[in-house]
Amino acid sequence: MATLKDVKRIVIKVGTSSLTHSTGKTNIRQMKRLVTVISDIVNSGIEVALVSSGAIGVGVGKLGLKERPVTTAGKQAAATVGQCELMFMYDKMFGEYGHKVGQFLVTKRDVDNLESRDNLINAFERTLEFGAIPVINENDVVAVEEIVYGDNDNLSAIVAKLIKADALFILTDIDGLYDANPNENEYARIIPVVEEITEGLFELAGGKGSKFGTGGMITKLQAAQIATEAGIDTVIMNGGDPENLYKILEGHQVGTFFVAKDKEQSR
Ligand code: GLU
Repeated sequence: MATLKDVKRIVIKVGTSSLTHSTGKTNIRQMKRLVTVISDIVNSGIEVALVSSGAIGVGVGKLGLKERPVTTAGKQAAATVGQCELMFMYDKMFGEYGHKVGQFLVTKRDVDNLESRDNLINAFERTLEFGAIPVINENDVVAVEEIVYGDNDNLSAIVAKLIKADALFILTDIDGLYDANPNENEYARIIPVVEEITEGLFELAGGKGSKFGTGGMITKLQAAQIATEAGIDTVIMNGGDPENLYKILEGHQVGTFFVAKDKEQSR
């Protein structure tokens, strides 16, 4: 069975729901657990890049807005505030373990343009070489429709490709990809390993009435597809237990493991 025991460089993607309470305020305990685990993983010699959402959500909470703005400008304004708060928290928490963070705010335009993509790759490489942890988000403040990824799942797969990561971990609010809707079917089980991302899987993730798909499972599958096609193993797992990252890196099965394409034969 495929394992992730010997990875050297990984991307971890964490969503807004893993970083905030329903009030929109930062979930300090949860962030601390995540930062503790990542710090320990880095201490063990693995390079980590963290793709973190939460700019808009945290901004809404910090500004005390009653609801998430619907206008682009409103969301952007919330992101300006939330991104600062997020980086402040990461800097402070990683700093407690002696780690440094570097902020990367990226748009699709930066990746699509060959020159800026090269610059971005160089900046990633140098930041990792300096021993700092790149923390990446979409640059929501300038990312209007035509240059937007719109979701950090896809962005995390792009980042994993840019830095040639060995594995991508997508932390979310359910345990992985289920073979049926767990809210409706008591026999629904996590699919432990996916060798081939088929149309059928996309239907499973977003099929009619599948509540478990509305948390963004489709964009996670898209990300898994981009990454595995680039030879990067991908895991979708519950961000509520970041300690499970230890288990996976020790070779245990957690969540849903999507096997990288060109590695399938050799395993
Ligand atoms: N860039 C958005 C934010 O930080 C999040 C996008 C996503 O959740 O995928 O609020």
